[in-house]
Amino acid sequence: MNTKTIIVLGAGVGGLVVANELRRKLPSQHKIMLIERNADHRFAPSFLWLMTGNRKPDAISQPVHRLVRSGIDLILGEVTEIDLTHQQVTTSQGAFGFDYLIIALGAELAPEIVPGLAENAHSFYTFAETQKLYQTLHRFEAGSLALVVCSVPYKCPGAPHEAAMLISDFFRRRGIRDKVEIHLYTPEPQPMPVAGPQLGEAVKQMLSSKGIHFHPLHKLASVSRSEIAFEGKDSARYDLLIAIPPHRAPSIARQVGLANEAGWIPVDRFTLRTKHENVYAIGDITAISIPGRWKPDVPMMLPKAGVFAHVQAEVVAERITDEISGRTPTAQFCGTGYCMLEAGEGLAGFAFGDFFGEPSPRLELRNIGRAWHLGKVMFEQWWLSPFGIKKALLHSALNVGGKLLKIPVDV
Ligand SMILES: Cc1cc2nc3c(=O)[nH]c(=O)nc-3n(C[C@H](O)[C@H](O)[C@H](O)COP(=O)(O)OP(=O)(O)OC[C@H]3O[C@@H](n4cnc5c(N)ncnc54)[C@H](O)[C@@H]3O)c2cc1C
Repeated sequence: MNTKTIIVLGAGVGGLVVANELRRKLPSQHKIMLIERNADHRFAPSFLWLMTGNRKPDAISQPVHRLVRSGIDLILGEVTEIDLTHQQVTTSQGAFGFDYLIIALGAELAPEIVPGLAENAHSFYTFAETQKLYQTLHRFEAGSLALVVCSVPYKCPGAPHEAAMLISDFFRRRGIRDKVEIHLYTPEPQPMPVAGPQLGEAVKQMLSSKGIHFHPLHKLASVSRSEIAFEGKDSARYDLLIAIPPHRAPSIARQVGLANEAGWIPVDRFTLRTKHENVYAIGDITAISIPGRWKPDVPMMLPKAGVFAHVQAEVVAERITDEISGRTPTAQFCGTGYCMLEAGEGLAGFAFGDFFGEPSPRLELRNIGRAWHLGKVMFEQWWLSPFGIKKALLHSALNVGGKLLKIPVDV
């Protein structure tokens, strides 16, 4: 009998979707293994609401096994080695052979790269640190708050702007907004450069309407107890520092010989295939160049975002299913994506478009409104529900909502 083993590394956004879709599509004779080191899944987009006390930690967590379809072998362990020649993955729970491999190990945070950062900065990029940050924001009474993007690439290009606006709203609700200055520093030339100048201008206006000072082209060099130093710019004083730490690819990508110079895994942008046959990579660990230039000598890269990991996972599941079933795979990732930008006060902005558009990504903007915020909340509820009636109902509601609003929300 023709039986195949497909191993998925990482049960984050991309890994969960690809494993569940493969299980839905493939007959049970084929084995699907999902390997993940954390027993609990935390929904990262909700870290922003955890930071401002709009969510409790339990409300944005779910044991991984509850998010996985039955018929998937979930291995809770650390992936330590990938051997492409012998088609084998080694983990803390043993070694497993594969016919197909999908690498969805995400990006790592590396605060230690910037001197003084780890000791002095808060962050909302991990579950544990976000809970600490909430306590700190709760106690903060007055002064200068610096929110710093350390380097590119980083996950979710909208997140720093959303965080600044949500913090502004949090202080307004606490009645201390006029006692706090909020500064957002980034090495980028504008907010979300990949989305083009029109969207960048709209985000700048959203920030300025909330009294947030935006400082582009500020590359963080080092941090001391009360001061941040930038390359070639004046230093700034702070009372509370929140950073989006430098990101790097998991070292395993480099060890296995699939990575580019920066450590990320280049893939065919339509099929997500790596240079190795039967090995795919999806989500934040990939490097996918897109049309357009960030600076004259720096090509644009597809942003690291869950919406892309999700669609890429569906494409890979369909391609592998077709291949195993003897059909010619036709599914392709076409670079469409969207972003709901939380603006505080129960409102959000919305942008969507074609990131593979020529000569540069083509994005459309919709007016800020309550519907986008509610859409984000519904997506969160759908994502965190275990398989069953609730998930099916939310699924239908999201798809109907997307059609009514004429937006490509397909979950
Ligand atoms: C604060 C914040 C807000 C965000 N908001 C949004 C948003 O609104 N919209 C959006 O589209 N995206 C958003 N994102 C980005 C989104 O969360 C990521 O892009 C997405 O999770 C990437 O999916 P992935 O599968 O590539 O990686 P991940 O979801 O990070 O999954 C990787 C998995 O691999 C596991 N893993 C890693 N190494 C090993 C190992 N050696 N052994 C075993 N397991 C391992 C990890 O534990 C993890 O579960 C946000 C991110 C943050 C931090």
